[in-house]
Amino acid sequence: MGKKILINFIIDHKISYSIGILFMLLTSYIQALFPKVLGNTIDILKIDGFNFKNVYINIAYIVCIAFGTFLTTYVWRNLVIGNGRRLECYLREKLFEHLQKLSIEFYNKNKTGDLIAYAINDVNAVRMTFGPATAMTINGMVICFISIYSMARTINWRLTILSLLPVPVIFFIMISIGRIVRNRFKKVQESFASISDRVQENINGIRVIKAYVQEEDELKNFQKLNDQMIKSNLDMVAASSYLSPLIELCFSISFVLNLIMGSNMVLKGEISLGEFIAFNGYLTMIMAPIVSFGRIITIIQRGMASLNRLNEIFSISPKIQEGNNLVEKPIMGSIEIKNLSFTYPNSKEIVLSDINLSISQGCTLGIIGRTGSGKSTLVNLLLRMYNVEKGKVFLDGIDINDYKLDRLRDSFGFVPQDNFLFSDSICNNIKFFKDAYSDEQVAYAAKNSCIYESIMNLQNEFNEILGERGVNISGGQKQRISIARALIKDPKILILDDALSAVDTITEAKILRNIKELRKNKSSIIIAHRISAVMHADEIIVIDKGRILERGTHLELLQKGGLYYDISKIQSYNF
Ligand code: ATP
Ligand code: MG
Repeated sequence: MGKKILINFIIDHKISYSIGILFMLLTSYIQALFPKVLGNTIDILKIDGFNFKNVYINIAYIVCIAFGTFLTTYVWRNLVIGNGRRLECYLREKLFEHLQKLSIEFYNKNKTGDLIAYAINDVNAVRMTFGPATAMTINGMVICFISIYSMARTINWRLTILSLLPVPVIFFIMISIGRIVRNRFKKVQESFASISDRVQENINGIRVIKAYVQEEDELKNFQKLNDQMIKSNLDMVAASSYLSPLIELCFSISFVLNLIMGSNMVLKGEISLGEFIAFNGYLTMIMAPIVSFGRIITIIQRGMASLNRLNEIFSISPKIQEGNNLVEKPIMGSIEIKNLSFTYPNSKEIVLSDINLSISQGCTLGIIGRTGSGKSTLVNLLLRMYNVEKGKVFLDGIDINDYKLDRLRDSFGFVPQDNFLFSDSICNNIKFFKDAYSDEQVAYAAKNSCIYESIMNLQNEFNEILGERGVNISGGQKQRISIARALIKDPKILILDDALSAVDTITEAKILRNIKELRKNKSSIIIAHRISAVMHADEIIVIDKGRILERGTHLELLQKGGLYYDISKIQSYNF
């Protein structure tokens, strides 16, 4: 999948890549003319003395070579290196798009730091490979080819073979060390991911860390990870550091062989002095790309390691798939659940068993139950956050698997238990960046969730920017902004998952009254721990250990004298 994305990109940019490569070839060709012109100039000087006209022509050649190199290099760098940058953006965008599609299950397993490492380091390593490294490879190969051709064909093939004897050794060294670098780079990426995880978790959890005076311990843990990172980086450097000096050593041998044999050939008159100088020029020219081949191999090996890592992510398909015969009907909001049982993927614990439930359009269901009893799981299944077996959950009589996922989820206004606010303005948080909502609608939603006054007391009112995850407002304020976000949608089904837990009982009663008023013909599900939040619902279910233990209205449940009654008794003592 990652490779397919890459191929698609290259195909889409084939014209700029082709022109870029063409100019690259041209650059290499022009550069390769230089030693020849230099050699010629020396031979002319030797034969003619300082003949002004000939020297003048050769100077003009050299200026043209410099100018031509400048122009052609400018064009290919812009195209090829520019494409590398475009590829980086494209790949990151595709990764982001893919990550957005992946189900909650994926995020339960993968850490944020790892995913950040993919989006930054790995994408960057791929860019380096398909931008600068590709350019350097082509450029280097052409220079080597033209130089070797000129050395062998126009100067002397015996001298060429002798001078290039160490080159196969150089390639052997490069390939062997390259393989080691690739493996070690994978470790570097992994330890970067761990560090990034740790930093991210520490920043998010800084309040808990401070409250439990864990700074020292956290620092020690961090130092351990940092030491691992240093070690894996040093391991990689230890391998890659061999590369350039070994290559240079091999080249020194080349020069020594060339000097011994070449100078003898000049003395014997087999080649001219100018040709010998041109030959040396070519040998020096070859040296630069071959030395940088070492670096290129490292970049390519890293890029390939990263491409493989990205491929692993891209090959994960979203666990929640669209059905085949999708229903186009709009959802009105009646819910039916038949014999629903559920176990989380990769877990053995049965979280919900044999749930049977029906909510008519316009009714409110209250859900109460001990912590861990399965309340959040039940509502998450309604939104298909996890796969639900066919024939278990129906909306308006149609299986939820038969609705288009977007349409299904869009019919809900969901305030999850761990409500999330973005570090943006309150207004944008309420309307979720959708400009379709007017300021009046935003204010109306805020009034109904009883947060309007608190917002108006802020310095910038609705334009007040929230800190990360809304750190600069209280827990109750966060919950009410999240409720406003759900209310502004005026959804067919509203779900409040423990969304009033941080709100005082008087405000809670006001919000519930507003919701009842607003949502006369629309369904709502309210999950709570407080009886006061669910007592006015049309039906209340008490969930215990994944089963519906009791059901009925507030009065019916009180009369039953079961768990609901016990909870209400304990809570009334607290009032
Ligand atoms: P609370 O009142 O504390 O919010 P809840 O009734 O909403 O609790 P759930 O969050 O639905 O409870 O959890 C029900 C059970 O499912 C718990 O035992 C929990 O450990 C388990 N569980 C929740 N999320 C996952 C998950 N992603 N993977 C595996 N098990 C999970
Ligand atoms: Mg819950």
